[in-house]
This record gives sequence, C-alpha cells and structure tokens, in this order.
Amino acid sequence: MTLLNKSFKTEYNTAPFSDIKTEDFLPAFKSGIEKAKSEIDTIVSNAETPTFKNTIEALDYSGEELDRISSIFFNLNSAETNDEIQKIAQEVSPLLSEFSNDITLNKDLFKRVKAVYDSKSDLDLTTEQHTLLDKKYKGFSRNGANLLEGKKELLRAIDKELSQLKLKFGEHILAETNKFEMHLTNESDVSGLPEGAKEAAKQLAEGKDKNGWLITLDYPSYIPFMTYADNRELREKLSKAFGSKGFNNDDLDNQDIVLKIAKQRFERAKLLGYKTHAHFVLEERMAEKPENVNTFLNELLEKAKPAAEQEFKNLEDFAKDLDGIDQLQKWDSGYYSEKLKQKLFSLDDEQLKPYFKLENVIKGAFTVAEKLFGLQFQEINTVDKYHDDVLTYKVTDNEGELVSIFYADFFPRAGKRNGAWMTSYKPQMIKDGANERPHVSIVCNFTKPTKSKPSLLTFNEVTTLFHEFGHALHGMLANTTYPSLSGTSVYWDFVELPSQILENWCYEEETLKLFATHYETGDVIPMELIEKIKASATFHEGMQTLRQLSFGLLDMSWHGVDPSKITNVKTHEVESFGDTNLYPDVAENCMSTSFAHIFQGGYSSGYYSYKWAEVLDADAFEYFKEEGIFNKTVADKFKAYVLSQGGTENPMTLYKKFRGQEPKPEALLRRAGLIK
Ligand SMILES: [Zn+2]
Repeated sequence: MTLLNKSFKTEYNTAPFSDIKTEDFLPAFKSGIEKAKSEIDTIVSNAETPTFKNTIEALDYSGEELDRISSIFFNLNSAETNDEIQKIAQEVSPLLSEFSNDITLNKDLFKRVKAVYDSKSDLDLTTEQHTLLDKKYKGFSRNGANLLEGKKELLRAIDKELSQLKLKFGEHILAETNKFEMHLTNESDVSGLPEGAKEAAKQLAEGKDKNGWLITLDYPSYIPFMTYADNRELREKLSKAFGSKGFNNDDLDNQDIVLKIAKQRFERAKLLGYKTHAHFVLEERMAEKPENVNTFLNELLEKAKPAAEQEFKNLEDFAKDLDGIDQLQKWDSGYYSEKLKQKLFSLDDEQLKPYFKLENVIKGAFTVAEKLFGLQFQEINTVDKYHDDVLTYKVTDNEGELVSIFYADFFPRAGKRNGAWMTSYKPQMIKDGANERPHVSIVCNFTKPTKSKPSLLTFNEVTTLFHEFGHALHGMLANTTYPSLSGTSVYWDFVELPSQILENWCYEEETLKLFATHYETGDVIPMELIEKIKASATFHEGMQTLRQLSFGLLDMSWHGVDPSKITNVKTHEVESFGDTNLYPDVAENCMSTSFAHIFQGGYSSGYYSYKWAEVLDADAFEYFKEEGIFNKTVADKFKAYVLSQGGTENPMTLYKKFRGQEPKPEALLRRAGLIK
C-alpha cells in the first residue's frame, strides 16, 4: 500500500506532496480501484431491502480514496507534469473508464437504485436527497440501463461509432490546420504586424529553413495577422483557408461526418426516449429544454440586432473613409475593428499594468471576499506544496472556523499547461456528522516578476484572477452533505455564474480604490482610465453578441431537430445563420465542418451557455448594484442560495430564491450598452 492509499497524517489533511513519489501513483490507482470495487460489491450484496441510505448514499460516499488519488494526480498532470506522469496518465485513463463503465453497466446495482427511485414518493427525503436520488438514477438510465438487451447493444454500437466519428472529425481539422502555411518574402506583406508577431512568423520560417515569414492557421499566428496585417488580399487568403477547414471535398472533408454525427446523436436520443439530442442534453441543464434555449437566443437576437447593425454601419463608414473599402468582408472585421478601437480609446496594457501588481490584486480579491462573505485569508507555510511558486492560505470565517485550504499557483513554467483554471484536491462533504472542509486551488499563467520588476498584470489578467477566484469561492463556501453535489458540481449552464459575477467588481471604482494603486507611486488608478476600461470592454458588443448567437443557433439547428431531412451541410448552415448575418456569405467556407466545440468537444446543445451565463451574471450583479456592491444582505443571499448550495437543488429554483425572480436579459443588454 502506498502513502496515497492511507489517510494523510498532515495538518488539515492536505496532500503530502513532497513525500509522494511518482512511481507510487500506478499502484495507488490500482489499489484505489480495488477498494472502490469492493465498496460497490458491499452495496450490491447487501441482504437488506434497498434504501436511500444503504444504496444511494452509500454509492455517493464510495470511491473516496480513488477520487482523492485522481484529484492529486490529474491536477499535477495539468500544473506540474513530466514524461513519467504523462505516461502514467496514458496507462491509468483506460483503467478508470473501465471502472466507471463497470458501475454504469452493473445490472444488480441498477436494480437497487431503481427500487429506491421507484418508491421515491413514499420516502421522507430532503431536497438534497431527492436531487441525489434523481442524479444517481439518471446516471444509469441515460446510459441505457432501462433498455432491453438488443437495444442496449444498439446503444453501445452508436456510442462506439460516435466516438470514432468525433475522433475523425478532430483529426481532419488538425491535419487541415497543419497542412496550410502562407510563406511571405516581402517585408511589405507583413506590414502592420506588431514586432512580436513578426518575430514569431520569422522564427516559424527559420524553423523550416525558409527565408521571410511563415503564417499558419494556428491561433497565435492567425489572430495577429487577421487583426493587424495591412495587405487585404493576404487577409482574404488566410481567412478563406481558415474557413474552409474540413470543406474541401478531399480526404479531409468533414461534411459527411457532420451529417452522420447529427443523425447518430438523434438516434441515440430516440432510443432513450427523448425527442431530440438537445432534449436529452438539456434535461440536465438549467435551461431544461430546447424551446427555452431557442426563445432565449431569439429574444437576445432581436434586442441586440439594432445595435449590431449600427456598429456594422459605423465600421463600414470608417473603413470607407480610411481605405475606400466599398463592401466590408469577413476578413476586414478584425482589422478595422482594431483600428477603430485604437482611434477611440488609445488604451494599452502598459498604461494600466503599473496599477495591477499581482500582490495588490490578490489582496483586492481577498478584500472583496471579506467584505461580501466575511472570509479571512491567512498565508501559511506549514502546508506542503508541489512547487515553490505555489502560495497556500488558511481561509476562516468571522468566527475563526476553518472554511477551506486555498492554493494559488500563478506563474507559467515547463510542465504547466496554458490558461487558467480552478480545481480542488479534496471536496467538501458532511460525513458521519463531520463537515469536511475542501482544499481548493487556482492555477494561472501570469507574467513572472523579475529582479527589477514585480509581476504586473494586464487588465485581462486581473479579470481572469477574479474569475477563477469566483469559482474558488463556489468551492470554498460549499456546504452540502453529499460530495457529488458539492461546490462547483452544478449544471453546466450554471457553473460560470459565481466566476463571471466576480469579474464585475473589477470595473467598479469602489473596488479598484481598494487595491489598484501604482506599484511605485502608490497613487490610486485615475477615474478616466477606469472609464476607458469600461467603454472599451463593451466595444462592438452588439456584433460580438450576434456572432455568439449565430453559433448557438447553428448548434440548436443541428441538435434540436430530426436531422434526417438535412442533406447539405452548407445549405443548412446558411439557412440557420439567416438573421444573424452582417457580412456577405463566403461560398467556399463552412463553419460546421470545423465547429469542434459541438462536433468534437462537449458543447453540443450547449453553445448557448456562454450567453446564458452572461445573462445570469449581469442580472445577479445588477441586484448588487441596486443595493450597493458590498451590500451584506444581497451577499448573504448569494452565499446562502448559490455559493453554498452546489447542485443540491434545481439551479432556477436556487436563483429565484436569491434574486426573487427569474433572470432577465435586460441587465446584460444594459451593461453591454445595447439598450439604454
Ligand atoms: Zn470559468
């Protein structure tokens, strides 16, 4: 037995990182899986009649050791990985999915779960217990547990085909991306590009023993070129190459795959008794059903469109004045938007950064949490960590009770993946009468301090820190009984509310005065800069909104209908985009054939959730604005009905308890300046 399989003998039960050896993980996983299996066996072989306690509750508390090992391991694989860890991940992933399949396909276990579920109206359960029972039952039924044998096999066959189709879809996009390069040899062809982008393009060329500059379809190369390159023909060429991925009628074409994926998903949903794939997906979302999503998207579209059309007209006029452009095309949008933005705001990161020293921003986030939720953050050095850069805090409430252990890991390094995220090492739960407090972590990739300069954040990094900190608060303030309903374990379209709402405080003078002071002079950030930040944040919001809505509608057009009548991907797409188009259609381009979010990733029938979350956070923050952004009553309600509740109740019910009504889109539209 490894160290990982025993209870940790550390203060607060934190992971003993420096004592964990990488070679411990594989045996730890194997014995963790064995233990979890035997816990399941105990539930199944129980001679007593199935009850909520001996079946549903027992199931939720099972596998705790395995979960703990998984959290530590996969968090390290993201934040501090190496070849050895990656190799173990390859080995362990199939073991874990086999184990979880064994549970979902365990007929005797399902029999017990179903017995409890079928008698649920006779049981005296709390709301949280009802939610848990529902969730456990659906974990089986949504995977076909109720189907007859032949149909079960059909479902497995569909699942197998779908995973192969999605894999192919992704391989094609990757191959298309890697296949294309635009080799430029005239200095004038890279005119307009910032030095950094030029340098990167030169290095790409050098890497392939070429002169000049190489531009590719990878975002770090593609985005700067579309934003800054003065040469319109080259922008057109690049844009068309980008937009035709998977749409070239060759062996990398994705049109057939798209049609097949949509059809197989529909068949799968039908088999399980749902009207469409979207009905299946949305059953476990706050939005609940496709009708709600469509109404939501169309209502926003109607309200955002006039502003978007006005912005488009202004951009057209600007491009005409500047360069005599008669018809604005897709490959002009990024370029002229950036030029117009520069003209209107002349706001650059370097102006703002001195006011956002990392230590000050962290202090700012903590102060906000203290003022709103009465939390105290004390840095401690007694908790073991996986890297010296990691900061550790003990979080307590006003009574001095432990709320959480909090890890913060801010700087990039080899072995850490890009981006920013929140995660946890130990979930909150109430077990055997004890409220076990969580161990929460945020991981970012901010600019590292140097000998002469502290870490100074861009404004975007400031909002990122607040965003992840918002997720962290959701985890830290969790106060539920069952681990699978705790903290951020909520419906997908609800999970971004705590994170996005916290970003709002970054734009408020009252907050910025608390922490945005110049790192050398100590001066508070000038109000005019704050105003500029706000104005530039909503620049071209109407057009951006239309774009997001068009993707959401396209997603629903594939998944909220019977797709068997769709025979042509492009025709279908053009129809779906209908009301959202500002730019002329590009015949040789297609969005669906490279729309990886919905055809490869997990966003099918879920793309709307980006806007949904924005509506929620704007509506919720407006409540704070009405009563004062540090109003205790509103904050208490937010903590009581949102942050502490996790997934214990339907999110719409929770939201209404907090807000007194359902969310409305007006707050978002007002914040975005789309309506007055
Ligand atoms: Zn987030």
